[in-house]
This record gives sequence, structure tokens and C-alpha cells, in this order.
Amino acid sequence: MALKAELVAIGDELVSGQALDTNSQWLARSLAALGVETRFHSSIGDDMDENLGALRHAFGRAELVVTTGGLGPTQDDLTREALARVAGVELVEDPASLAAIAGFFERRNRAMTERNRVQALFPAGSEPIANRVGTAPGIWMRLGRATCICLPGVPYEMKVMFEEQVAPRVRSLMAARGDTRFILERKLNLFGRGEADVEASALDLTARGREPMVGITASDATISFRVRSSSATETEAASALEGTLATIRARFADILFSEGDDELQHAVLAELARSGKTLAVAESCTGGLIADRVASLAGASEHFLGGVVSYSNASKSALLGVPAELIARVGAVSPEVAEAMAVGARGRFGSDLAVSVTGIAGPSGGTPEKPVGLVYLGLATAEGVRSRKLELGPEQPRRVIQSRSAKHALNWVRRELLGLE
Ligand code: ATP
Ligand code: MG
Repeated sequence: MALKAELVAIGDELVSGQALDTNSQWLARSLAALGVETRFHSSIGDDMDENLGALRHAFGRAELVVTTGGLGPTQDDLTREALARVAGVELVEDPASLAAIAGFFERRNRAMTERNRVQALFPAGSEPIANRVGTAPGIWMRLGRATCICLPGVPYEMKVMFEEQVAPRVRSLMAARGDTRFILERKLNLFGRGEADVEASALDLTARGREPMVGITASDATISFRVRSSSATETEAASALEGTLATIRARFADILFSEGDDELQHAVLAELARSGKTLAVAESCTGGLIADRVASLAGASEHFLGGVVSYSNASKSALLGVPAELIARVGAVSPEVAEAMAVGARGRFGSDLAVSVTGIAGPSGGTPEKPVGLVYLGLATAEGVRSRKLELGPEQPRRVIQSRSAKHALNWVRRELLGLE
């Protein structure tokens, strides 16, 4: 049985909605990588009774409780006292932690306040977790059958402490229980079909109880399969994982574009690099989004020549050579103009490929003939130019229409480079 964990995020800003609890997301993923199964997430404010209640509740249902926040020197930082009360012990000063906190201030030529002393207080029977990047040390404490780990709220400090000190100890904790499951996770990303459509072709994979486990999620029209393989040995986990990955790769070869955290632009740049080709863009309704996505990648300069944001009709003519007469006749949002923009950009930049986007991002500007969400893409290559119509839905917000258009444009370039079009 995997070790069961509960994450408790402490801070008024988290429950009030002013800040998002990203610590727990990160911790759940990091614990999963160690083979620990997070079953519960709780968020509470800086309130003593709620702290006591949440901790008692967590110790009642989880074997590993990890809290973040509430370790600071101010009055609203209650974690250490709450833990001492739940354990029924006193707070005692740890001289080594006090010296470390004093040293932190000394190195910065700042006076340590009396209140910082409370950060050197620990529930009797607990152990400090040193903090080399901040002042608040963490706490490691055994409470009956549960282990409690308290970490600071500042994400950077929390992560460094977890990776350097907590992860190795959790690993030994699991080894001591004879619980040495190896967990391997991978994400495969697909674009070009709807989530329900993809899932319908994957019901055998996403069935509950399947091993390795396969989950499907959609984010901004990118569909991801998350595969999680868990086994007693690393070799077993790896071979089961590979088997499932191979099935997905074969079944969805036409729409699979990356593995891990890579986005469509990564795939485009990789294909440009592989084929030694160059790309230029001409953007109207996406306003530079495609260029931004490609240019955000290291190494883009070798293959991305540039782009034109031709938002107005006049700029489409002046910068890309789209005939004003054509725009007047068929409208700026048309296959003809998309093609002329792509041809114009390819000529201007001297690139192998140029992709263009022109459409109606809304919320206004739509007509019955040309509704919000109507977008045309153009793709110019040495062989000629083609266009493609997208209907992204009049109810979609502007940002979504822009982002989807950019993704479709990038995907078209990717598929063209792969010879799939
Ligand atoms: P510490 O224990 O490090 O002193 P704290 O709760 O005393 O934590 P705060 O000043 O409340 O520290 O928070 C420090 C910063 O960390 C704030 O910007 C806060 O929003 C952020 N933070 C706290 N908890 C979380 C969390 N769960 N996820 C993301 N950010 C968080
Ligand atoms: Mg706080």
C-alpha cells in the first residue's frame, strides 16, 4: 500500500482567493514521483482553531501530512504552535536554528528582531528542517502513526527544502515500511481532435483500474494523456510504461505532437531544425501571438526569420502586398486574403514557409456571414499556397480564439514539415 498523504496549505490569502495554492500542486506531483499518494488537499486561513481542526483531521486520515505556510515570524503565523498543541507538547527553543536565523540577518547586515526568535521554537520531540535560503526553518515530527512535515509558504524556499531534505527522508521512510514502489509518469500531447473524440478511441486505456493508469485532460484544445506506471521495481515500471506509451503513439500517430511539457511551437522548431527550413509569419487577429510563441524558444533565431502584425487593411497592403482591391472585394477575413498574406510574408522574409492568420476574434465585429470565431489560415511554401477555414465558435472569448488560431497555425506548419499534409 502506498503511503497516503494530505497536504495542508495555510494562509488567509489562499482561502480568500487572493493567491492560488500552487505549493500543493507542486508537492503532490513531487510526492507522486516518490511513490507517495496524495489523497487530500486542505486549505485553511491563519486561524488557530481552524489550524488545530485541520491538523487533527489530517492526522486521522493520512500517514504523511505536509503543511506549507504559517512559519513566519508574525502574529498570524501559527503552524508551530498549532502542531505543538495537537501533539500536546511544549514549544522549546533550538539553539542551532536560532544561530542559523541570526546568521541569516548578520550576512545581510540587518538586525534580527525579537519576533524572529519564535522561528527557532519547535514542538518538543520534533526536528528542525534547516532553511538555507530563508529564515523560517521547517519541522519534521512523528505523531503516532503519522509523520508531519511543516514547510514555509514561500514557494522557492519550500521547493529547495523539499528537494534537498524532505525527499531523501521520505524515501527512507518508505524503504523502512518495505514500500519501495517505483512510479514513473509521462505525458503525451495531441492536437487536432476533440477530447471526447480522442477518448472514444481510448476507452480501453482510460478504463478505471488499468495498470499503467492513463488519464486524459484537455487544456486549450491540447489533449494530454498522462500515463502513470507503478511497480515494485524500476525495470518493471519502465517496461509497463513503455508498452502503454507505444500503444498511444501508434494509435494517435497522426495527432501526437510532443511528450512532456513541450508545446506545439517546440514541435515546430524541432521540425524546422530537422528539415533545415525557415519560417515567417503574417498575423492579423492573433496580433503576434504565433511569433511570440516561436520566439520564446531558445534557438529560434536559426529558423524563425520574423513576422508582420498586419492588423489593419492598410498594413496588409503596405507591408505584405495584399491588393487593396482584393480586400475590398472579398473582405479581410477570407481565404484569398489569408493566402495573399502568406505569400507576401514568404516573399518579404525569403523564408521556406510562411503561415498567416486572419479572422474575427470578437466579441464584436461578427456578421451572420462572417461570425466571431471565423478564421482563415494561409500557408505558403515553394510548392504554392493554400488556405484553411477554422470555425472556433462565436461564444468563445477573444483570447481563446486567438490562442486556438495560433495553435492551428503552428500545427499546420508542423504537419507540413512532416509531410502529413
Ligand atoms: P512562511 O512559513 O514561509 O513564513 P508564511 O505563511 O509565513 O510562510 P506568507 O508571508 O504568508 O508566509 O507567504 C509568503 C509568500 O508565499 C506569499 O507570497 C504567499 O502568497 C506565498 N504562499 C504561501 N502559501 C502558498 C501556497 N500554498 N501556494 C503558493 N504560494 C504560497
Ligand atoms: Mg502565511
